[in-house]
Amino acid sequence: MQVATGKSVLNGIAIGKIKVYTPPKVEISEALTEDVDKELQRFENAREKAIDQQNALYEKAVIDAGEDSAEVFSVHAMMLDDDDLVDATKEIIQTQKHNAEYAVKIAFNNQARVFAEMDDPYMKERSADIYDIQQAVLNVLFGIDPESMQGTEPCILVANDLTPSETVRLDKSLLLGIITREGSLNSHTAILARSMGIPALVKCADVASKWDGQDAIIDGYNGCVYVDPTPDLQESLKKKQEEDIKQKALLKGLKGQPNTTIDGKTIQVYANIGGPQDIGLVQQNDAGGVGLFRSEFVYLNSRDYPTEEEQFNAYRLAVETLAPKLVVIRTCDIGADKQVDYMNMPKEDNPAMGLRAIRLCLTHRDFFKTQLRALLRASAYGNLGIMFPMIISARELHECKELLAECTKELEDKGVQIGKYQVGIMIETPAAVLVADSLAEDCDFFSIGTNDLTQYTLAIDRQNASLDSFLDTHHPAVLREIQMTIEAGHRHGIWVGICGELGADRSLTETFLRMGIDELSVNPVSVLPLRKLIRDTDLRKPPKETVTTA
Ligand code: PEP
Ligand code: MG
Repeated sequence: MQVATGKSVLNGIAIGKIKVYTPPKVEISEALTEDVDKELQRFENAREKAIDQQNALYEKAVIDAGEDSAEVFSVHAMMLDDDDLVDATKEIIQTQKHNAEYAVKIAFNNQARVFAEMDDPYMKERSADIYDIQQAVLNVLFGIDPESMQGTEPCILVANDLTPSETVRLDKSLLLGIITREGSLNSHTAILARSMGIPALVKCADVASKWDGQDAIIDGYNGCVYVDPTPDLQESLKKKQEEDIKQKALLKGLKGQPNTTIDGKTIQVYANIGGPQDIGLVQQNDAGGVGLFRSEFVYLNSRDYPTEEEQFNAYRLAVETLAPKLVVIRTCDIGADKQVDYMNMPKEDNPAMGLRAIRLCLTHRDFFKTQLRALLRASAYGNLGIMFPMIISARELHECKELLAECTKELEDKGVQIGKYQVGIMIETPAAVLVADSLAEDCDFFSIGTNDLTQYTLAIDRQNASLDSFLDTHHPAVLREIQMTIEAGHRHGIWVGICGELGADRSLTETFLRMGIDELSVNPVSVLPLRKLIRDTDLRKPPKETVTTA
C-alpha cells in the first residue's frame, strides 16, 4: 500500500480504480506558413468553436455545479473574445508568418504570464483560465476530443492538473474522485469539484503514472490517498463512506425545515460568505440568509480600489439573488492580517490593534463613503443589513450613521432609489461588550465576532499558532461576554447573533440556545448539521456541561 497526501477539497471518501489521464502529446511546429490568410481563418474558426464549447460547458456546469460555479465558463467565452488576446495572436500569424497553433501558444502564454506575475492571488489564478482557453483552441486546431479522457468505467481520475473545462466535461456518473499533482484549494477546478460533491485532492506531489488501474481510496477527511489499500483499511473506509451517504441523505431531508428545538425555540441559522461567488453555497445548504458577507474580499480580489459600481454590482448580486432573505454585508475590514498593496498602508508594530476595519474607514472617509453608497444602492434590491466591524464606542457608531445619512442625501439628490435596511455592529472587543447597552440604543442588531473577541479578551494573537496550547476557545470570560452581549441586546429589543467560528462549534450550540441567541452565522456547509443539532435539542432537559478546550 502507498499513502500520498494532498490538499483535500471536500470531506468525503472515494473508493475505486485509478485512471491516470495523460493529455495527448501534440507537436507545435515552428515552421513558417506560405498562406497567412488560411492560418488566420483556421484561428478564427477554432476560436469561434471554442467559444461555442465554453458556452455549452456553462450550460452543463449550471446543472452539475450551480450557476456560480458555472460562471467561469462565461468568463472564458468572454476572454476568447478579448481584443488584445485575439489581436496579439493574429499579429504573430500576420507579421511572423507562423501557423495558428504556434501563434496561439505564444500569444496565450504571454498573456498567462502577465497574470501569473501579479501579486494578487486572485489575479494570479486567472493565468490558469488563459491556459484553459488556450487548450480549448489548440484542441480544436488539433482535432482532439477532450471527452475521451475519462474512459467508460467508474474511476478515480488522476492527472497532473485539470482545467475547469476538463473538470466539468467529466461524466459525473462515472467520476468517483479526482487527484491532481498541481492545483490549489481556491482554483476553479477545486470549486467545481466541491460544488459537484466529488472528493478531490489537489497538490498531491506523489501522483504517479504507475497508479493506473490500481485500487485506491481518497480519504478527504485526512487529505490523503491510499493506493492498493489493505483489506482492513478498505473495510473501515467503506463503512465511513456508507455513514457519509446516510448522513448526507439525512441532512438533505432537513432542507426547508425550521431551526426549532424540541421544546419550540426557533433561531436563525445563516451563512458566512466571502462574496457573490458563494451565493450558490448559501442556496445549496439552505441557509436562512447571510449573517456575514466579508466585503473586504471585494477589495482583496481587486488590483486597485474597487469602484462604487463594481462594489454595487457585487452587493446587489448577493442581495437580489437571495431576496427576501436577509444579507448582512460587513463594511470593509482591511488591516491586521488582511492587507492590500494598493492601499500602501504604513507598517504598524501591532497591526491587530492598529488602523484596521472601522478605524481605517473613519480615517479615510471618501474611501468609506464609496462603499456606503454602493451598499445603499444595493439596498433597493432585497433585504440588506449593513454591519460595521470593530466598533468600540457609541461615538464611532454615531459617525458611521452620520456618513450613511450623508451618502443617502447625495444619492437621493441624484434621484437614486434606496431601500429599507438594518444597521448592525460586530461585537469583537471587550470594550464593545462593556458598553453594549449604549451601542444597542443606536442599532438594529449585534453580531458577535468571536474570533476577534477571543483574541482581544484572552490577549492571544489569533494568527500565532504557537499559542494554541494557551487558547481556550470555551474560556468562561468569552462565554460570559457572549451572555452579556445577548442580554444587553435584548434589553433594547434588538437581535443578537454570532458570526465568528464559535457559532459553528456544536459543543456550544445548546449553551448559546440557553443564553438566548437569536442567530448563528456559520460556514455554509455547517448550516444543516447545525439545524439537525438544534432540532434534536430539548431545553427542558438539564443543561449539558460546557467543557473548556485548553
Ligand atoms: C470575528 O472576528 O469573529 C469575525 C467574524 O471577523 P473576522 O474573522 O473576519 O475578523
Ligand atoms: Mg473580526
